[in-house]
Amino acid sequence: MKRVLTGFLAIIALAWGAGMLSPDHTAEGSLAWAIYLESLFLTGLFSISLLSLTMVLATRPAWLEKPLGGLDRIYRLHKWSGILAVLFATAHWLLEMSDDLFEFLAGGGDHTGGDELSAFPEPLRDMGEELGEWAFYVLLALLALTLWRQFSYRLWRPLHRAMPVLYLLLVFHALVLAPASYWGQPIGLLLALLFGAGSIASALSLSGRIGRGRKAGGRVVSVENPTPDIIEVRCQLDEGWRGHRPGQFAFVTFDNGEGHHPFTIASADHGDRTVTFAIKALGDYTRRLSRQLVAGAPVEVEGPYGRFQLSRANNRRRQIWIAGGIGITPFLAWLESLQGEGVASVAADLHYSVRDLSSDPFVERLQRLCDALPKVHLHLHDAQSRPLSAETLAGELTDSRRAEIWFCGPCGLAESLRDGLRRLWPGKVRFHQEAFEMR
Ligand SMILES: Cc1cc2nc3c(=O)[nH]c(=O)nc-3n(C[C@H](O)[C@H](O)[C@H](O)COP(=O)(O)OP(=O)(O)OC[C@H]3O[C@@H](n4cnc5c(N)ncnc54)[C@H](O)[C@@H]3O)c2cc1C
Repeated sequence: MKRVLTGFLAIIALAWGAGMLSPDHTAEGSLAWAIYLESLFLTGLFSISLLSLTMVLATRPAWLEKPLGGLDRIYRLHKWSGILAVLFATAHWLLEMSDDLFEFLAGGGDHTGGDELSAFPEPLRDMGEELGEWAFYVLLALLALTLWRQFSYRLWRPLHRAMPVLYLLLVFHALVLAPASYWGQPIGLLLALLFGAGSIASALSLSGRIGRGRKAGGRVVSVENPTPDIIEVRCQLDEGWRGHRPGQFAFVTFDNGEGHHPFTIASADHGDRTVTFAIKALGDYTRRLSRQLVAGAPVEVEGPYGRFQLSRANNRRRQIWIAGGIGITPFLAWLESLQGEGVASVAADLHYSVRDLSSDPFVERLQRLCDALPKVHLHLHDAQSRPLSAETLAGELTDSRRAEIWFCGPCGLAESLRDGLRRLWPGKVRFHQEAFEMR
């Protein structure tokens, strides 16, 4: 992610640098004033370019899943490019607000104001400034709510939907205030591409067309409650469903008022368009779901998405699969898809860590699935009596082969295992993680 963002910003900076060499790009004033102006432009360019990237990533572009490592990572990139965009916008705003100070520091005298380099008439520039300032304040407030983890996701989501409108206002601000010389330069071409892509993404979002081509309707066939806090929902989907690979997830809508939630498809694809979800009550909605959902209810499923796929496992490397709690769902699909292969093509150690093994609803099924797969060894960990740690895993890594870890579960456990294994087994571990968090 860092590499993508750094590369993206480097391209913008290069195009900006090339623009500065243009003979048209001259503003009257001292060197100090020129540095001030360029800082104002560069922070603005970084901000609006990152916002354009954020908008494009919000359209759930399946074609970017392969290069960027899956939709969960695309969402992480979306989040961080949005955060960086607001930070640059803050720097841009601070510079704009302190122009009197910079004028004084630059020694007064004749100098061109930033907006005077624009090709647009003054009333439009004034409007652009005004709208940009207000959009920035709202953007800052939205970022604060995004980072405030206690703020309910349910309330946050409709507010977040205002983003395309704010983006379009900020594009207007950038268009009417950018120096006229940009439009004949590489930076102008880059901005035109980014504004075009970002505006199309905004239109898709505002018209509710994101993911439309990947949606399928269907019905809930059965709802089971293996424990009070988990439900297993089997759905029969219509012809719109194009099938899935084991380990992928989908956005599922059981209630239009609530909107969609991401859940891993916990079953293999049997070609009959049935999918099963195992849903844990982790918040308000998922708690309500177990009381409200009944067989026969309509469902809409958008997907499949994700690169946490069995087909990507590199069999030359030792396979270690780790699930924490409800993070077992992609592995249920993996194991189910391997059944009936005779001797499974994959050899793996599956570690399943839960709070209380004695009451866990998946242990029996896992044992049954793994018993039919002689090369897949199940290791059960009770968080209280036999916690899973990097030391436990490293103790079992006796051969010299490199290991590939596939992890799905709580972020805290992922971090401690990843750090520990990299320390205990430097250079020998490749870590794949399915993030169960998007905000
Ligand atoms: C790729 C992926 C796969 C997942 N697979 C499963 C699974 O197989 N089984 C399972 O039980 N859970 C799974 N989850 C988690 C599940 O999506 C959340 O627990 C659920 O959405 C929580 O909703 P809530 O309103 O009950 O909780 P809240 O308390 O409102 O939300 C808790 C957290 O869940 C996330 N969340 C909530 N609503 C949404 C939404 N509409 N879209 C995206 N994120 C949301 C946010 O990070 C939020 O902070 C998965 C999540 C992701 C990202």
